[in-house]
Amino acid sequence: MTRSRAIPALALASALLLAGGPSGLGVPDGPGGLANAAPPVSVVSRGPRTAGRVALTFDDGASPANCRRILATLVARGVPATFFPVADAMRADPAFWRMVVAVGDPIGDHTLTHPQMPTLSAAAQFLQIDGARRLAEAISGAPLLRVFRPPYGAYDATTLRQALRAGFATVLLWDTSDRDTSLHGTVAEMLAAAERATAGSVILMHCGPNATPFVLGPLLDHLAGAGLRPVTVPQLLGISWTGRPAASPPTPAQILDGLSPLPPAPSGGVVIGPAGIGTMTFPPAPPASEAAPSATAEPSPGQPTTAPASASPPASPPAAGSPAPTASPTSPAQDQSAASGPGAALALALLSALLAAAILALGLSRARRR
Ligand SMILES: [Zn+2]
Repeated sequence: MTRSRAIPALALASALLLAGGPSGLGVPDGPGGLANAAPPVSVVSRGPRTAGRVALTFDDGASPANCRRILATLVARGVPATFFPVADAMRADPAFWRMVVAVGDPIGDHTLTHPQMPTLSAAAQFLQIDGARRLAEAISGAPLLRVFRPPYGAYDATTLRQALRAGFATVLLWDTSDRDTSLHGTVAEMLAAAERATAGSVILMHCGPNATPFVLGPLLDHLAGAGLRPVTVPQLLGISWTGRPAASPPTPAQILDGLSPLPPAPSGGVVIGPAGIGTMTFPPAPPASEAAPSATAEPSPGQPTTAPASASPPASPPAAGSPAPTASPTSPAQDQSAASGPGAALALALLSALLAAAILALGLSRARRR
């Protein structure tokens, strides 16, 4: 964050907090509202086992280039998927996220900055969820799917309450992961892990690691051969979703926009980003090489379950350990960037900066109370 952005952001964040919450940001509130009686929150890691359907999900969005490669492959194969980007990472390639909307694929909520939610106060957890929705909707130009996926699969009872307060009645984990954020995995191992998917599986992958575009094509072949049809998360779970493809959705070539269909090296655990997942930020960076080894791991949340979590605090999945900062501070976030015009870019930067500042202010006030 630059100083020129930080100062007005802090002032705005203070005004925001004094005004009583993030509802003054000028983006419509979620359908759940802030004070409605709470229906149960569903914590789900898979869909019904009875139909031959699976849901491909792509988290984080740390590499705009690999996000484009993944979407181009999906579109070329006519396969839908659901994306859970870190909202702050979406700023690196707004045009891509509008393409996701134009394709008709849902985008869910994966927080603003990818924290370990149970370590945060209730107010900070709310801001991570609600702020992410506001920023993601501003960038993508469309309503977010009201499904929240907590980073690392880590949540507590407070997370569920704040998700509901932010309008998210479904918290989605997964039952299958290709482990593409593994530091030491090979593409073959990642493919084998993903191929454990069965009917109803929610498959966790990432649009960041260089390995994932190499895993995706063979995985789609496997699923087709196994009679497993990829559908979106709302289709798998029976959740309302009004998104639909644009009249002229982007073609694979338009999505790739000159990119090669596969990244330079099929290395596992490679997440492109200047600051890693744990503190993911994407300051404007000139186009440059993508090769940027870093370290981040998003573990499996454990056994597949479908658990209503309204009355009693749910068991949290195994914690992930602390997010691993990247070792590549000089690498750019993207090998292309798509600006949406200086005015929109400034507005988005300001929105995300003030949300980050609000989180910081909440943390400070919480610390002072101790
Ligand atoms: Zn994540």
